[in-house]
Amino acid sequence: MAARVGDVLIGGGGHIVVQTMCDTHTSDVEATLAQCVRLSRAGAEIIRLTVPGMDDVMSVRRIKESLRERGVTTPLVADIHFSSNTALAVAPYVEKVRVNPGNFHKDHNEAISRFRSLLKVCRENGTAIRIGVNHGSLGDYITNLYGDTPEAMAKAAMEWVGICEEENFRDAVVSLKSSNTRVMVDAYRCFRAEMEKNSLSFPLHVGVTEAGNGDSGRIKSCVGISTLLSEGTGDTIRVSLTEDPEAELPVARYLAARYERRIVSSMTAISINGRKAVATYQSPSFETLLLDVSCDFGKGLLDKEIDELELEGVYLDESGAPVSIEESGKGSYLVNELMQAARRRFYRPEYIACPGCGRTMYGLREALEEVKARTSHLKDVVIAVMGCVVNGPGEMADADWGYVGEGNRKVSIYKGRTPVLRHVPENEAVDRLLELIEGEGSI
Ligand code: SF4
Repeated sequence: MAARVGDVLIGGGGHIVVQTMCDTHTSDVEATLAQCVRLSRAGAEIIRLTVPGMDDVMSVRRIKESLRERGVTTPLVADIHFSSNTALAVAPYVEKVRVNPGNFHKDHNEAISRFRSLLKVCRENGTAIRIGVNHGSLGDYITNLYGDTPEAMAKAAMEWVGICEEENFRDAVVSLKSSNTRVMVDAYRCFRAEMEKNSLSFPLHVGVTEAGNGDSGRIKSCVGISTLLSEGTGDTIRVSLTEDPEAELPVARYLAARYERRIVSSMTAISINGRKAVATYQSPSFETLLLDVSCDFGKGLLDKEIDELELEGVYLDESGAPVSIEESGKGSYLVNELMQAARRRFYRPEYIACPGCGRTMYGLREALEEVKARTSHLKDVVIAVMGCVVNGPGEMADADWGYVGEGNRKVSIYKGRTPVLRHVPENEAVDRLLELIEGEGSI
């Protein structure tokens, strides 16, 4: 079954659609428009914009009209978190609306009724829907029944697609994201099994949410997304990085090309002895090596088919000179990162960081870099760096500590889901976070 999102078809055996999200304030129409144009030129086939409230609806309309006047036809998705009224208001002006209907209302029957109303408006306007059921932001109704588990995510999504089915609404896509690759893969597998049991086949949007930045963000995304794509699960993907959204697209395009069999790995040999793999690579760059290794071994490590990995061979540096993977230390570095991404061995703190969006009111990318630099010596701790207090605390799921931007150069610090310090000036916040963590003995 395929969902139509403007001119783009998701699912139904079509290609893997690559998408991303603006990180500009949607109310800044010129900046958002310019970013949409850049993202479209860089290969984004669908672009999402945050719509925090009613005031942003007309901005979305203007952005879309200006894009079409410029000949940019890339479909736009409105990202809604809680407000069904905002979803209803923006649906006529975009090609897709992303919602988690479980958060529409505390009363579950009221949430269902609002979701049905949204389906009606979407049908009238030819607008598709993404049902985004993220780990950490399930409604109380589901967590009270199943806990905050992959099974709960799948059950929640099944309820909403069941309503789409009752309403004969076909242009629906489903996502079940988590920053934890194990939870995310289990949730999609569970949901796919449930759909098969019920003879349903809604298209799937696959991604690892809050993957962070740099090498670790890319490796974590590849481990989760490639595991599912290799099983034929996933019709559209987003690689979420706490970087410029343009930086997400080469990784996403690599994943799409690899699982559409347009490119192959640079691995030239492999030997497996018991549960240890030794792989040899001849890679054109370190970036290619990183992506290849993550996709070649992510699933095997995640599913505990192998326990140990050794990397040999060469990659070419920026000047084209060959670099030994073992002697440069890059082999053991990649293995450590891969083990951590697949949640097999933790050699440094685990960082969760959202990509940021129009709701971000502070220097999220700089904050993440500072938190990473100042906490790298800690052990057995999960630290989340999130862009906003509205969704950040819910979305950081199983983090031990949260560093959440409030705006106005202030930060809230969370222990688990509980705020322990509020309104901390940005320039003191990492010190306060470290004092709290070290006070708990995580050194
Ligand atoms: S948590 Fe991050 S990505 Fe999610 S809404 Fe807030 S700022 Fe945007």
